[in-house]
Amino acid sequence: MTTGWKFVLSSVMLMVIGCGVSAPRRFADPRFAQQGRVVAGDPGCEQAKLVSTGGGFPESPRTLAIRWTGYTNFELVYNGQIILLDAHFDRGSMFPSLGFTAADVKRANVLLLGHGHLDHMSDAASVGARTDAIVVGAPVTTDKLKTQAIDPKQIRTVTGRGGELLEFPGFKVEPILGRHGEPPKDVTAAFDNALKAAAPKPTAQQVAERNEIRQRGTNDPRVVAEGTIAYLITLDNGFRIMFRDSGGTVTDYEKAAMTRVGRVDVALVAVSAAFLHTLTAQRALEHIHTYRPDVYIPGHHDAPFNGLWRATEPLFQAVKDDNPNIITVSRAYREPICFDTENNIQTRRRN
Ligand SMILES: [Zn+2]
Repeated sequence: MTTGWKFVLSSVMLMVIGCGVSAPRRFADPRFAQQGRVVAGDPGCEQAKLVSTGGGFPESPRTLAIRWTGYTNFELVYNGQIILLDAHFDRGSMFPSLGFTAADVKRANVLLLGHGHLDHMSDAASVGARTDAIVVGAPVTTDKLKTQAIDPKQIRTVTGRGGELLEFPGFKVEPILGRHGEPPKDVTAAFDNALKAAAPKPTAQQVAERNEIRQRGTNDPRVVAEGTIAYLITLDNGFRIMFRDSGGTVTDYEKAAMTRVGRVDVALVAVSAAFLHTLTAQRALEHIHTYRPDVYIPGHHDAPFNGLWRATEPLFQAVKDDNPNIITVSRAYREPICFDTENNIQTRRRN
């Protein structure tokens, strides 16, 4: 046998032996491992432009692109569908710019509202009306929405108490009753007072601006126990996403749902408003122990100029100390995070 043939034969044998064994992954040099890139050169996974404002879809319909846009606003794009989670885009001049306005959001299929406070639904009616999206929320949320300029036919009211399933092309949504955050008042008051004393005061115009925005959300006390909905989104190939837009304690409804489904691939969860990282980390662990995600992406950690961002690093450290395999991700506004959804917990279980 010639040396050439020996080489070919050994190469074939290596290929045969190698089947089923994944090739060693290259380390992720941050200069080259573009933010969540699935396929090199896929603008849908590289551009910091929302698809709902005219950005491109990922090249593969199997790719899920997630973009965070402040507080617990997220855009999910999958299989030609655009899912918006919460809608508080025009936050006013006290906030850092998101790089787009509510008026720029021109296409969306579904808008899921976690709860009805102003910082979660203030642009729901205008975005819903412009995009014709189906808008979903708890009774206290949709009661408020129905007083605003949107066609009631687009509105879906859910309680999250079981037995509800919303089906859309390529994905389904199960609403689950959660609970709003109830951070200890002595802690939040101490921080609020310190900020009032130390930070520049908002101008009268900024106060007026914020009050106008406030009118488009509700302060109904029902928000806490009956108005905060977690949404379990399941894609047609089994990939699962949990969205929870307030850092409250886990409910029996959530525990029951997770006992049934097991785990999720991605959890998008609000950081508790308790400021002290001993408390925010404790709550994050409670959420993570319930949803058991592969990837944890926090939300609601940004703040107005005179406020305090809630630190994500202490959470990430606590989460990794608890489970070194969990992947934690936090990005700037609009930066895409892409997933190859064919690789998910359900398909791995089947194989
Ligand atoms: Zn709230």
